[in-house]
Amino acid sequence: MIHKYIWDNNICLDFLLNRKAVNPLALKLFNVFIDNQVSIFVSSSQLHNIQYMFFKLCKLHDIISTEQAKDIWDDFFSKIEIVKTPAYLDDGHPLLESDIEDYLIELSAQTLKNSKIITRDKKFLQQSNLAITVDEAISEIEEQEEKNISFLNLEQVNLPHRIEIEKGIDRVLTSGWYLQGNEVNAFEKEYAQFIGTNHCIGVANGLDALRLILRAYIEMGQLKTGDEIIVPANTYIASILSISDNNLKPLLVEPNINTYNIDPSKIEEKITSKTKGIMIVHLYGQNAMYPEIEHLVGKYNLKLIEDNAQAQGCFYGEKRTGSLGHAAGHSFYPGKNLGALGDAGAVTTDDEQLAATIRAIANYGSSKKYINDYKGLNSRLDEIQAAVLRTKLSGLDEDNKQRSEIARYYTENIVNPNITLPVSKDFFKPSNPATIQPLTPNTHVWHIYPIRCQQRDKLQQHLAANGIQTLIHYPVPPHKQNAYKEWNRQDWPLTEQIHKEILSLPISPVIKLEEVQKITEIINHYE
Ligand SMILES: *Cc1c(COP(=O)(O)O)cnc(C)c1O
Repeated sequence: MIHKYIWDNNICLDFLLNRKAVNPLALKLFNVFIDNQVSIFVSSSQLHNIQYMFFKLCKLHDIISTEQAKDIWDDFFSKIEIVKTPAYLDDGHPLLESDIEDYLIELSAQTLKNSKIITRDKKFLQQSNLAITVDEAISEIEEQEEKNISFLNLEQVNLPHRIEIEKGIDRVLTSGWYLQGNEVNAFEKEYAQFIGTNHCIGVANGLDALRLILRAYIEMGQLKTGDEIIVPANTYIASILSISDNNLKPLLVEPNINTYNIDPSKIEEKITSKTKGIMIVHLYGQNAMYPEIEHLVGKYNLKLIEDNAQAQGCFYGEKRTGSLGHAAGHSFYPGKNLGALGDAGAVTTDDEQLAATIRAIANYGSSKKYINDYKGLNSRLDEIQAAVLRTKLSGLDEDNKQRSEIARYYTENIVNPNITLPVSKDFFKPSNPATIQPLTPNTHVWHIYPIRCQQRDKLQQHLAANGIQTLIHYPVPPHKQNAYKEWNRQDWPLTEQIHKEILSLPISPVIKLEEVQKITEIINHYE
């Protein structure tokens, strides 16, 4: 198990003052942390004391000049991560009685998952279950190796945003305003600007975003019951649910076996006089837009709706997905590339009337308090999620770049004739890997890294036996679900083949290179 470590004051001072006599391992401890890329956490409750003691001792013993001391302090300060001191004190805790400073450190440690406190204070070691010695810490870190690789560690994903998220939540808590306030307004502006549309409407989740787009077109008289919407057969079922939920008729279209996205060459044959729209899904994070689709949208005067739940930040030429059609639905489900701390979603569009209609429907059908124009529903983004999303949006392009690096590593290094790698325009796999060049960059944001294998279940078991967690996106296609009994006898051979063979490898902005190397090696040795 990987731990997080808070350094007690004495350990920080040992290092800062190089107190070899009392702690010969202080420098070694520091180096072990740096070499193993382990964060040094310090509770905010400790900071003033460590700083005060450090400068006082420097002066007292005339060890170094004030200038030097300042440099040492600044350097140390830049290398630590600060963890908050909670205000919730537990009355009965023995440490609270005996040493309030240690108790506050203990409380800070409890706000981190799997945390320990490194100290040489005997009393602290006795009274706290989290306290360990320098020796123990060094051997633990040197031995610690996360054996199991999880598919997606959301705690790790959110950890780099911890401080800004805490700030945002505090801001909302003390504002006294929890819905339809400043955070949502600001996020809507920032996200619209990011995607490149005039409007963004925050809603409760991704499915609602898609449902609301279609519902608003119905209210606006631009769609009616029984109209047909083209949608990929190979998608997450939510895309299709949004269509059926509005009493519209989903027309399934097979995917392209290389991209797993809708096959643009198979769309036109499905179009009838009742076909009024196309919903494209940028599945696994790969842009699903093609000039052929643009052409059909114009030729048959169709609504183009994007399901951008998996592709936040992705590009199609100069434009981002989510700005390519008439409207787009986005999901901020925690595991998505831009993930909230709960459910959240948004619609983006340039259509002012559509935006206003969606906003009203999602708010009981009302755009003016107590005046209801539609038989609406309640589907709103809340202030806390908006605050979290604002923080994470600022790092999204960087996160996607990390994902792309991981994807590139897999693509360049997995060589196993039984395995089909995903095809993306961002990079391809020529015979000489050294010549891999980005073609059209950022057409894939690698929400998922899907490989295919005819013996998929065996491969998945093999990886699991080696401590590697993989998932299947998705095991059962929509047309085989009980929810769509009317389609159960239909044949969508490519969709079914993909569902039988697909396997998602771990990918995230925080997965380590060693982990990706290990996964690659195990796959390469699999027969
Ligand atoms: C996640 C997802 C949705 C639904 O989003 P929620 O926020 O979970 O409602 C819709 N479509 C696709 C393709 C998705 O991956």
